[in-house]
Amino acid sequence: RKKIDVNKIREDFPVLHQKVNGKPLAYFDNAATTQKPVQVIDALKAYYEKDNSNIHRGAHTLASRATEHFESTRNQIREFINAPSSEEVIFTKGTTESINLVANTYGRKFIQEGDEIIISTMEHHSNIVPWQMLCENNKAVLRVIPIFKNGELDFEAYKKLLSPKTKLVAVVHASNALGTVNPIKDMIRLAHEYGAKFLVDGAQSTAHLPVDVQDLDCDFLAFSAHKLYGPTGVGVLYGKRELLEKMPPYQGGGEMIKEVRFENTTYNDIPYKFEAGTPNIADVIAFDQALTFIKDCGKDKIHAHESQLLAYAFDKCATIKGFEPIGTADEKVSVMSFNIKNTHPFDVGMMLDASGIAVRTGHHCTQPLMDWYGIEGTVRASFAVYNTVEEIDRLYNSLVRIAKRKN
Ligand code: PMP
Repeated sequence: RKKIDVNKIREDFPVLHQKVNGKPLAYFDNAATTQKPVQVIDALKAYYEKDNSNIHRGAHTLASRATEHFESTRNQIREFINAPSSEEVIFTKGTTESINLVANTYGRKFIQEGDEIIISTMEHHSNIVPWQMLCENNKAVLRVIPIFKNGELDFEAYKKLLSPKTKLVAVVHASNALGTVNPIKDMIRLAHEYGAKFLVDGAQSTAHLPVDVQDLDCDFLAFSAHKLYGPTGVGVLYGKRELLEKMPPYQGGGEMIKEVRFENTTYNDIPYKFEAGTPNIADVIAFDQALTFIKDCGKDKIHAHESQLLAYAFDKCATIKGFEPIGTADEKVSVMSFNIKNTHPFDVGMMLDASGIAVRTGHHCTQPLMDWYGIEGTVRASFAVYNTVEEIDRLYNSLVRIAKRKN
């Protein structure tokens, strides 16, 4: 199979062709958000220039064009995650809102006093706090799967946490802070043996790995368009039809109703039951182009390219005196988290930025994980389809200089 043509792909990303602090930008903050190809940017402009109107209700041509494009994205998402039906694909504003939706609807109704929810040590705050809030409200109990030093989940400990009291397991597919890919399919199978539902936080995994909801048999999957080369402000919640149908609505308003009377209101069918108000039409429509971009690149080729970059980066940086990797699991997406001995991660980030290299530093919205490691934070370089070996050489050269100061 032919490999990805990185130089050609880079031509599609205007933002990459600029200097930062006098140096060419090397963008390694992809786990926070990816850059957008020109197809996505053009789709946004075209929508506002040609089709702008409210969807699902207008009787005119622009409204039906906008509706058609909006629903076409829903269908491409269905294909992207292999959902049985596009009615199981709900638009939200991001992973965070998707998880909050489940906590506030499924959770509030079906999780009762004494019931247990299982999460893991490596969860993003958005897959911790909504469950804490639910537990507080419904007097349920939150359980946490421990991890090993290399950043892998303790699977045996997970087995022991499961019990008939477990009503929901919510675990990240690929960790944003460590890159660890969790054995989610086996975890889901086990949870189902206890009758528990399973929510997959796919915020990171969807950009790097094939995610097939029917193969995984997950009950819910949450992810964000902006980490998939798409716009900000768009997220997805996939849910199994039988669950979505018995869940109460999330927000009340237009679109989510069938008939409104002061005495009694009936709710719309899924997915609209969960989409109150005017959605983020333009960004949803532009997201379609991002999914097409991924499809055209080929997910397997994206994965192969990123894995090669990750291995190259780790091998090179491992030779640096004072380089301390955090998260060395066997199965990883393209996240290199590390610290430089005797140097605060924030300072490493500042020095890299002075060389035009963009990384993330800090706790990465995983404070309990950082506490577990006994560190304040890490430096995180996360790679995407448009990153190059030359850019990693620059990262390495800068880190050599930074590490030399104190080591
Ligand atoms: N979960 C994980 C694993 C993430 O990486 C992120 C984004 N950093 C989120 C959840 C939250 O996504 P968003 O901010 O797009 O809602």
